Amino acid sequence: MDFSWPEEYTTFKQSVIQFAQEALNDDLISRDHEGQFNRNNWEKCAEFGIQGLAAPKAYGGREPEINMLKSMLAMEGLGYGCHDNGLALALNAQMWTVQLPIAHFGSKEQKKKFLPGMADGSFIGCHAVTEPEAGSDIYSMQMTATKVDGGYKLDGSKRLITFAPIADMALVFASVNPEMGKWGITAFLVETNTPGVDASPVRSKMGMRTVPIGELEFKDCHVPEEARLGSEGAGFSIMNHTLEFDRCCILASQLGAMERQLEDTIDFAKKRKQFGQPIGKFQSVSNRIADMKLRLETSRLLLYKVAWLKDAGESAMIEAAMLKLHLGESFVESSLDAVRCRGGNGFLTEFEVERDLRDSVGSVLYAGTSDIQRNIIASLLGL
Ligand SMILES: Cc1cc2nc3c(=O)[nH]c(=O)nc-3n(C[C@H](O)[C@H](O)[C@H](O)COP(=O)(O)OP(=O)(O)OC[C@H]3O[C@@H](n4cnc5c(N)ncnc54)[C@H](O)[C@@H]3O)c2cc1C
Repeated sequence: MDFSWPEEYTTFKQSVIQFAQEALNDDLISRDHEGQFNRNNWEKCAEFGIQGLAAPKAYGGREPEINMLKSMLAMEGLGYGCHDNGLALALNAQMWTVQLPIAHFGSKEQKKKFLPGMADGSFIGCHAVTEPEAGSDIYSMQMTATKVDGGYKLDGSKRLITFAPIADMALVFASVNPEMGKWGITAFLVETNTPGVDASPVRSKMGMRTVPIGELEFKDCHVPEEARLGSEGAGFSIMNHTLEFDRCCILASQLGAMERQLEDTIDFAKKRKQFGQPIGKFQSVSNRIADMKLRLETSRLLLYKVAWLKDAGESAMIEAAMLKLHLGESFVESSLDAVRCRGGNGFLTEFEVERDLRDSVGSVLYAGTSDIQRNIIASLLGL
């Protein structure tokens, strides 16, 4: 077994870290406080080539084909260098749940229409699955797509959608025949300036405040036949494919954030003295730091294995669920440990560890809650 990386990949990761450290951390405490998304930083990421990692070169991407191993390493580097977890979530959400399914399932025209703009940062896409009455039980969705002359009429609402308030387009799932259950689910690429689409933001949220999240309402919304992604009823397979990649990739940047958190915590534990010695000499503190390191390395092994499987074109259903579960829970635990290790300073906004803790909680909820990941693992074990 060879755990080494091609030099080109590690060099690229280093360049991503340097870019993120220099370009993406400005004014973060106040942006988090105000709940502001920084479009300029989004465009800087595109100019550097981050969004381009999730599109083939022919459609504005970086590489001839999407390279999962290189991309995961780069997104880890982004999370290490960029302290803005909201921006990292926004990037990963668009790249892996909008760009990737379009690259996989889209027609030439659809790829040409959407991918270059998403890769160059001028166009924003969101992935709209969750509904008021269909969260974890997503296949019970109620949104409908009624066949009309030349296309479909969409009716229904989606909630908790990353980027909904400012997205230019949405990858939306709706049923063409509710009686067929999940086999009626169909995917659509809908521009949000289409009459009958209404977007609204959530008022305030616990974390990830620098990325807008909100609702999309579809009422008598007519879309042409060409807006359909894949065939009628293919939405179930497209959604499954996308959700597997979502679980694989959505937390890659959080791994980098965990490494940054660990290094900062070690540094603090060496410098802060109580009872005449550095607090890192107290086993209660060093045990916490040892646990942070263990969570980081076990999460890393799972992420790299999943990236390797997807790069080889293999299924990674159970591995992706284990990764999502372990990395999400680990980020919450380690963020809390980082706060504990700093004592009262950990509670103060200016020390920037409480923000990671607030941001981390979403990772056990989106892309399927930890309970749902456990259910997937158990069912794949035949239980
Ligand atoms: C920051 C953030 C970003 C998001 N971005 C998006 C996005 O871009 N697009 C999108 O479509 N959605 C998005 N979501 C929504 C997210 O995917 C859902 O919140 C999630 O799937 C859970 O659905 P729910 O909130 O309706 O909770 P529910 O499904 O109502 O769950 C409530 C509780 O019941 C538990 N539960 C439910 N069913 C089971 C079961 N069978 N077994 C065990 N426990 C169960 C859950 O684990 C949870 O603890 C986002 C959410 C957050 C927080």
